Amino acid sequence: MDFSLTKEQQMIKEMVRDFAEKEIAPYAAKWDEEAHFPLHVFRKMGELGLLGLPFPEEYGGAGGDTISYAIAVEEIGRACGGTGLSYAAAVSLGASPIYYFGTEEQKQTWLVPMAKGETLGAFGLTEPNAGSDAGGTRTTAVLDGDEYVINGEKCWITNAQYARQVIVTAVTGKDARGKNIITALIVPTDSLGFTIRSNYDKMGVRASNTCELVFENVRVPKENVLGDPQKGFNQFLYTLDGGRISIAALAVGIAQAAFEKALQYAKERIQFGQPISKFQAIQFKLADMAMEIELARNMVYKAAWLKDQGKSFTKEASFAKLFASEMGFRVCNQAIQIHGGYGYMKEYGVERHLRDIKLMEIGEGTSEIQRLVIARQLGC
Ligand SMILES: Cc1cc2nc3c(=O)[nH]c(=O)nc-3n(C[C@H](O)[C@H](O)[C@H](O)COP(=O)(O)OP(=O)(O)OC[C@H]3O[C@@H](n4cnc5c(N)ncnc54)[C@H](O)[C@@H]3O)c2cc1C
Repeated sequence: MDFSLTKEQQMIKEMVRDFAEKEIAPYAAKWDEEAHFPLHVFRKMGELGLLGLPFPEEYGGAGGDTISYAIAVEEIGRACGGTGLSYAAAVSLGASPIYYFGTEEQKQTWLVPMAKGETLGAFGLTEPNAGSDAGGTRTTAVLDGDEYVINGEKCWITNAQYARQVIVTAVTGKDARGKNIITALIVPTDSLGFTIRSNYDKMGVRASNTCELVFENVRVPKENVLGDPQKGFNQFLYTLDGGRISIAALAVGIAQAAFEKALQYAKERIQFGQPISKFQAIQFKLADMAMEIELARNMVYKAAWLKDQGKSFTKEASFAKLFASEMGFRVCNQAIQIHGGYGYMKEYGVERHLRDIKLMEIGEGTSEIQRLVIARQLGC
């Protein structure tokens, strides 16, 4: 029992855990093996209100708070890292920017169907030559009459192949200091000249859909600009702050799964006439794993709580993302160590967690970028 959770948050935890254990966990190894995106699970998550969890009911959401959403990500991630990543990306990157910055009309057109789980959305920021340095975006959007004409490419965009629209960042001009002005545009995936390919062979999170996007004279009406056309850069920074809470929650969920397998295995595996859990070396590993997971979870809840209170949460979201992802990597690695040679075998399912969790140190700002963000918040 998590005494710190409200009744509603506890109910969500139980509901999502039950769903994930029945509908996701039994198939996670197969989806990983086949790099299969479980679209049907997203339909079911939509019916349960999970895809609109943190959005108000007036926009088709469930009116939950960010802590509830983080709990849902953790529980889905505990069952399958790839499904967890696609869930987190659908809510934090596909839908949230429209909720934060969209006009009423954009919310009705794009957010409501996503929140109801009828459609999925994606967020395309990263390019082959602009990753951490998103200011170096090369994709352009040029105003021609009442339409923007988009040219360029994006890489590693989650869920794009199954999305109805992608929020795309593009350079629309230069400011007084000669820096790129970056604007966010809502681009329907069936637009002429918009190609989406999913040919990547990934190390982990293989149930997640990851795409390359190519724009060749793609035209969108200027009404599809999201938020302030001059402030696309600041908008995605805010979006990523929120997204980092979900990546941290996902890392906690994956680490929790690896820890539970290691604990169970340690109690069952007999060496030198006793379960290996009786060896202090193994006990200390398990103790550290349990403690670090709990600490990371509390960091996630704190960042989520600050966001819900309307307070600044940039530093705490980076704290949580950085600590949870690096902690998760340590935990998954130790979980394999506790399994010995069996941990190295796919059959035991712990190696998948290590492959999945590695992405948490890279996506939505690498560990190095999180340290930069934190240092800036400290006034360095
Ligand atoms: C499976 C997957 C899904 C993804 N989903 C999405 C998505 O939905 N949408 C999206 O827009 N992007 C997505 N990404 C992209 C992801 O956000 C980027 O990979 C990430 O931001 C890092 O960019 P990069 O890979 O170009 O690395 P680079 O920026 O090239 O970094 C390479 C290395 O240099 C380090 N480095 C870079 N700059 C600095 C610096 N100033 N100081 C110190 N070290 C530095 C980095 O930390 C890293 O270790 C996804 C990526 C993957 C793999």
